[in-house]
Amino acid sequence: MAKTALITGASQGIGACIARTLAAEGFQIAVNCRSEREVENGGKEVAEACRALGVEAECFICDVSDYAACGEMVKAVKERFGSIDVLVNNAGITKDGLLVRMTEEQFDAVTNVNYKSVFNMTRHVGAVMFRQKSGRIINISSVAGLYGNMGQFNYSAAKAGIIGMTKTTAKELGSRGITCNAVAPGFVRTPMTDVLKDDYKQEIQKNIALGRLGDPEDIANAVAFFASDKASYITGQVLEVSGGMSM
Ligand code: NAP
Repeated sequence: MAKTALITGASQGIGACIARTLAAEGFQIAVNCRSEREVENGGKEVAEACRALGVEAECFICDVSDYAACGEMVKAVKERFGSIDVLVNNAGITKDGLLVRMTEEQFDAVTNVNYKSVFNMTRHVGAVMFRQKSGRIINISSVAGLYGNMGQFNYSAAKAGIIGMTKTTAKELGSRGITCNAVAPGFVRTPMTDVLKDDYKQEIQKNIALGRLGDPEDIANAVAFFASDKASYITGQVLEVSGGMSM
């Protein structure tokens, strides 16, 4: 039976690319979208692109910051595909601002979507994988979580927290044959970063050893590695994929 991968926030950007990349590796794909609007504005197209690669794929609507909704989605994915073999916790948002001006709403919104969602999803999918005695969980962190970033107190807290979750998940679920690793992207060209000013992007590019911003494929390839049999003895690790931004 083909294995199934569930990718959160897969209607666009890195998540959409991970979905297509894992489909090319033969995984059936559950494309999570926040709402019906995201299914129409990207999710449907991602699922179609996966099906064109010869695998089954479907969209599942769920706001991943909602614990109960995550439980319902995980149940629906399990019923539809029979198993959940790979979970990619990818959904994320930014609401940047310097700490002295950051509002409670900015902090809560970013930590709920980027951080609490990883508990919500891992708690529910972890139970499925526990019974299966196998599984791969891949969390999308960020260089902001490793090194901090001006204007991203909320986001860097969430992304650093994910690293702690990754290591604890690896320790708690390892005996059941489940691995959990994190990928920490640097600066990747997606709708999330398209809104930033060109001057700022050029400034960042100067500090990247490889001299270019990342593409979603750079991150998706690292995720595909962690999801593959080749990574079966790697767990609790954080792989920075930043073109050599920080060394
Ligand atoms: P993106 O283009 O903005 O995509 C983020 C995805 O998450 C969208 O599909 C978005 O759907 C979805 N999402 C947001 N809130 C959600 C929710 N509550 N429930 C379900 N889905 C939700 O961003 P990206 O650049 O691809 O980022 C993907 C991941 O990589 C994020 O975790 C991000 O923090 C991380 N990352 C990105 C970079 C970078 O440079 N791009 C660097 C480091 C880490 P909507 O359309 O509904 O918002």
